[in-house]
Amino acid sequence: MNIVEKVKEEVVNIAHTIYKEALVFETWGNVSSRPTESQVVITPSGIPYEKMHFVDMVVVNIDGEVEQGKWKPSTELPLHLAVYKARKDVKAIIHTHSVFATAFAVSRQDIPVVIEDLAQVVGGAVRVADYGQPGSNELALNAVKALGQEGNAVLLANHGLVVLGRDLSTALQRCRVIERNAQITMWSKLLGSPFMLKPEEIAQLRKNFLFDYGQKEQKMENEKILRE
Ligand SMILES: [Zn+2]
Repeated sequence: MNIVEKVKEEVVNIAHTIYKEALVFETWGNVSSRPTESQVVITPSGIPYEKMHFVDMVVVNIDGEVEQGKWKPSTELPLHLAVYKARKDVKAIIHTHSVFATAFAVSRQDIPVVIEDLAQVVGGAVRVADYGQPGSNELALNAVKALGQEGNAVLLANHGLVVLGRDLSTALQRCRVIERNAQITMWSKLLGSPFMLKPEEIAQLRKNFLFDYGQKEQKMENEKILRE
């Protein structure tokens, strides 16, 4: 199996996972990953997740021209390509419409850091990008602007969530953690005013996670990424 085929398998597996976990529904949301600098594997447009298979994956070049696949790529292809062009460190993107994160996107409020896991795996609050029509270049540009060179996730105003990663499993973990934080923040607002973690506490949690948490191989990988 060559690298493109391996990535096609990963993308379809992640697509099925986010569907099963209700981070997306029906045909909305999309997943991509880049096997090489100049190629992107992305889910097709308008195919229900339950019916989506390996053979339905679309391979495009970095300018969006289809190289492999029988379907049109996701309508959010401009968003995926704009992020990949702006961020050499990003190898995977997951776009969800998960309910609690989208509630923040609708009220155009950042998802604050209220518990350790968001600080650890995302590194800070999830900001809201300016509004753009779904599938438009404006939406793509607004998301890239809000992400900057450091952001790992961004909310699309009145729409959903976009999460980046150096691989698909990292991006998936971030999707889950962000949704959980959004839900906990909303519940805690019902109880009163949630206390936010302070910037220095967030920075310390992120640092500890990158350098002290988990096994040796992961720590070496994190150090390598931070040096790049
Ligand atoms: Zn969407």
